[in-house]
Amino acid sequence: MNLPANFVFSAKNLQSYADCPRRFQLRYVEGWQPPTMTAPEAQDELAYERRLRQGAMLHQLAKFSQEGIPHDLLKAAIRDDNVARWFAELLSSGLNDLPEKRLPEKRLQTSIDGQRLMAQVDLLAFEPGGDLVVVDWKTGSYVPDRESLRQRWQTIVYLYVAAKAGSRLYGAPLPAERVRLEYVYLARGGQRIRFTYSPAQMRDDEALLSGLMSEIQSASDFPLTPECRHCRFCAFRVHCERGEAVSLSDVDFDDLDEVADIELDFEQIGEYAF
Ligand code: SF4
Repeated sequence: MNLPANFVFSAKNLQSYADCPRRFQLRYVEGWQPPTMTAPEAQDELAYERRLRQGAMLHQLAKFSQEGIPHDLLKAAIRDDNVARWFAELLSSGLNDLPEKRLPEKRLQTSIDGQRLMAQVDLLAFEPGGDLVVVDWKTGSYVPDRESLRQRWQTIVYLYVAAKAGSRLYGAPLPAERVRLEYVYLARGGQRIRFTYSPAQMRDDEALLSGLMSEIQSASDFPLTPECRHCRFCAFRVHCERGEAVSLSDVDFDDLDEVADIELDFEQIGEYAF
């Protein structure tokens, strides 16, 4: 199977393939833009899209705050109560314990067996000679158990790519033990789940990544997943004839690979830094 010429493996597309090969094919090989959730009620569709935009807006605010835009200006631009709560939690969640050098919305890239692999991380905090920390903001209210989270491709890709590509930022060889990943659940009081790293774990992760990337490259068939639980939140559910939409309260918004444009009120932020 030929992947698109500019294809880059990522946590999202690997997880998409692992959950459902057909979803990967539709989204990343054939380039279908995800339709809306196709909920039975138009009202639910609007609520779903609003929720996606809320998550995107929070991530944009987090980026601006790390870039030094005054928090008061950012807060004044927020028009949504959920986003306001999450952002307040983010500001009070104590990033003080992270290394001082901060790079928000940082894309890191490496390769395995000649295939590109990237991680687009919410925040990278590091100190040459010290730790390198990847921070991922979560806005969903569901917190998976630790083992499930460790096995997710996001965890595997973020830690592996940070450990391998981070040395360029670090300015020296980066020991795997210096790398860690922190998930921060803003809708759960800023609860953090931390994963440290090691050379042995890095070797295991490389073997897993290499295996899945090879499998995808040689795949000629993309079957529908037999696990219908993955269809419940899938944007292609109608196309695949996999049933009705579920209640929005059941959707794990941290687990979706859809993106939404954000709408901050730039008038309120004013001309600062733009
Ligand atoms: S609806 Fe189900 S089978 Fe179809 S692409 Fe989505 S997850 Fe796969």
